Amino acid sequence: MATAMIRRAARDLVRAAVCLLAAMFVPAMAAAHTDSGRTEAWVREASTGLYPRAIDALSRIVDPERRLLAVRAYLRVGDALPERWTWPQERLASYDSTPEGKMADADIDAVCTAFAAANPGFTLEVNRQPRSLESQLAHWNENASVRAVAASLTAQLELRFAGITGAPSQEELRAALVEWKPPVAATLAAPGLSAHGQGRAFDFQVMRNGRIVAGLDAASARARWDAAGWTRRLESAMRVAGGRFSGPLSSPYEPWHYAYTPAPHGSPALTARVQGPAPATLASPQR
Ligand SMILES: [Zn+2]
Repeated sequence: MATAMIRRAARDLVRAAVCLLAAMFVPAMAAAHTDSGRTEAWVREASTGLYPRAIDALSRIVDPERRLLAVRAYLRVGDALPERWTWPQERLASYDSTPEGKMADADIDAVCTAFAAANPGFTLEVNRQPRSLESQLAHWNENASVRAVAASLTAQLELRFAGITGAPSQEELRAALVEWKPPVAATLAAPGLSAHGQGRAFDFQVMRNGRIVAGLDAASARARWDAAGWTRRLESAMRVAGGRFSGPLSSPYEPWHYAYTPAPHGSPALTARVQGPAPATLASPQR
């Protein structure tokens, strides 16, 4: 008798717990669903009429919040989007054999030589290939800092439009996106907008006997680069090698990232030797 009562009580307790959990989570799930639908609608509205390659890139971003953050980046670049856009595959593939590609190769060699001479036993490793759109998309889709900044943007827009009836207009949405300032910078440029996509930036990592001593990891920038002296030593190698690199990138802080200008601004050589636009300044995020 007592056992049966205990069993019944236990069963009731389990039922109550299930009901409580359902009450807690089902509305939350429904709300999350609604929010994601609304974010998706914002993306559609704000991106309508954008540069077709940007629209295509958006379709390959995995979630609406990351898509919305990319739309913001595209809107901020505005009319310069086509000239800032990552080179297509054919141009990336032929880069090595172009005058610009050869110039970059020789300049990187000069930095590596100066660095190795000043730091016996250590070398620099550099990915000399411009970064493809596919690679930028893959990073954007998995990067944790992008997720955090995108969530913060979505939350801000929810607040901003909470009081209005109906959906915001394209103009209102675009203004809200362009005006928003992230609390901290994401560690990546939006897909298509990385300076690496046009050979306008290179990342240098410090190696010893095939092992990474100071790598491309934002979390360890202060300890592995600044405190260990590599930031200063790389800067010094840049100075010795000549003036076509500038940096390192300050926001987000990446002591390994240097912008590259194939020839001095205004030089006739630039027009003759380099196809495409001159790079934008380093102040804009072009990781
Ligand atoms: Zn970089």
